[in-house]
Amino acid sequence: MSARIVRTVAELRAALAPHRADGVGFVPTMGALHEGHLSLVRTARAETAVVVLSIFVNPTQFGEAADLAAYPRTEDEDVALASAAGADLVFAPSVDEMYPTGFATTVSVGGALTATLEGAVRGRSHFDGVATVVAKLLVAVQPDRAYFGAKDAQQVVAVRRMVADLGLPVAVHALPTSRDADGLARSSRNARLSPAERELASVVPRALRRAQDAFADGLRDPRRLGAEVDAELAAAGLAAEYVEVVDADDLEPVDRVIRAALLAVAVRVGPVRLIDNVTLVPGVDDRISIEGRTS
Ligand code: AMP
Repeated sequence: MSARIVRTVAELRAALAPHRADGVGFVPTMGALHEGHLSLVRTARAETAVVVLSIFVNPTQFGEAADLAAYPRTEDEDVALASAAGADLVFAPSVDEMYPTGFATTVSVGGALTATLEGAVRGRSHFDGVATVVAKLLVAVQPDRAYFGAKDAQQVVAVRRMVADLGLPVAVHALPTSRDADGLARSSRNARLSPAERELASVVPRALRRAQDAFADGLRDPRRLGAEVDAELAAAGLAAEYVEVVDADDLEPVDRVIRAALLAVAVRVGPVRLIDNVTLVPGVDDRISIEGRTS
């Protein structure tokens, strides 16, 4: 059955009212849905009675106007895909519905959580934009469970912090990164890669995998783990915007990986900034699977 599309918070609340007690699951997205988003919808479908997916290309989290303008918008296809994966409602508000004239509030998650990695490159305003829109969406939907992808690991950490700090009554679930057969993390922006750039992009998961292999062999020095990533990228003629190993919980730099750490990378390939990450946990082998990998 096709999911119902609602465009206003009032319509959304009215549609959810009769089902609220059954349990509401929520998947916030910016649309141009791919298998990564759909894996979140399927999990929400399995775990909650009513599933809401939102599609909102949030202007306040984009730094470059060109990136916002080029962001793919495929609503009809998205609704069909979300419905097939089990969404009941698609909340697709206008910019005016989310930010009416006079809108003046920003939710800002402070500290290292938002100052490092993507925050360092994109500026604090990026995560202010993310936190504000996620807060608004959570208040609009009032879900019992909200589902996010580990691909945007820093976003997950910031959202968890915000939910805890504001006491929002929602359980935040982070699900594994969905990848293409060559390991590339699925992303709406990948559609903007030319065939040659798409081919080149496969070096990113290979670089992370190389660091994972070194980690599995006992390497615990963050700089040397990062150097493994850099070397693989350099061999393909790419250079990372950043490669960092940080604590998985507070995103602070670590001297040595003795507990769960995040190895995160951002690389520009053609017109697209690719971001990806893996978690390095001593004693846990959870390496990226890369089809056809021979070494
Ligand atoms: P976006 O539409 O890019 O804002 O993403 C919406 C949600 O889907 C976020 O929680 C993302 O982390 C998640 N997501 C995006 N790509 C993937 C992926 N490849 N695997 C799993 N989740 C993803």
